Amino acid sequence: MDAHQMVWNEKVAKDIINHLEKRRMEGSYASTAAQAKGEILAMIPQGATVFRCGSMTAKGMGLWEEIAKLTGVEVIDPYQPGLSPEESLGIRHKGMMADVMIASSNAVTLDGRLVNLDGMGNRVAAMTFGPKKVILVVGMNKVAPNLDSAMARVKHYAGPVNAIRLGLNNPCVETGLCADCKSPQRICNMWSIIEGHMIKDRIHVKLVGENLGY
Ligand code: SF4
Repeated sequence: MDAHQMVWNEKVAKDIINHLEKRRMEGSYASTAAQAKGEILAMIPQGATVFRCGSMTAKGMGLWEEIAKLTGVEVIDPYQPGLSPEESLGIRHKGMMADVMIASSNAVTLDGRLVNLDGMGNRVAAMTFGPKKVILVVGMNKVAPNLDSAMARVKHYAGPVNAIRLGLNNPCVETGLCADCKSPQRICNMWSIIEGHMIKDRIHVKLVGENLGY
């Protein structure tokens, strides 16, 4: 990230954080993924249960390896190797009662709205209600000017890239473009637009001045 991009990231992140606060959510900014990782680890209480939701951002930062080392912390992880689909689903149900959830957001608008699209829905469900604390780590590459551009980003970029990552047999894997498929493997089923929260500061958005995830 060059110096000019860093200045832009800091200015825009500050503005987004102000909007998040008006929406009764917390926000903070870290200029690097390494800084963000340390700050997120410090937010996890000793002995907490932590629900792992699908996030290439958190995975790419090496966050889960560090969380697993925290004293007394139990990671509720539906992505453990060797789980059957039924076992993975059971762990997703358990995660809804966790103390902390960690994921990313597919997009964040300049006015502080969080835009997500899920295949199964456990991630957006947990963001909305369930775990006591929600920590979303979001690279500044996911900032969109408004709701329309945020939804377009998610639908036409994050969706196809994730389908490619998962090796699905959907049209976007072939072309790189969303065809609004009706495939049983469709990963774009449930939209969530979080505009605010009645439980003040339940959601914390950690903006990061790097390109992270999709
Ligand atoms: S709706 Fe289907 S084609 Fe479009 S991005 Fe999602 S999985 Fe791909």
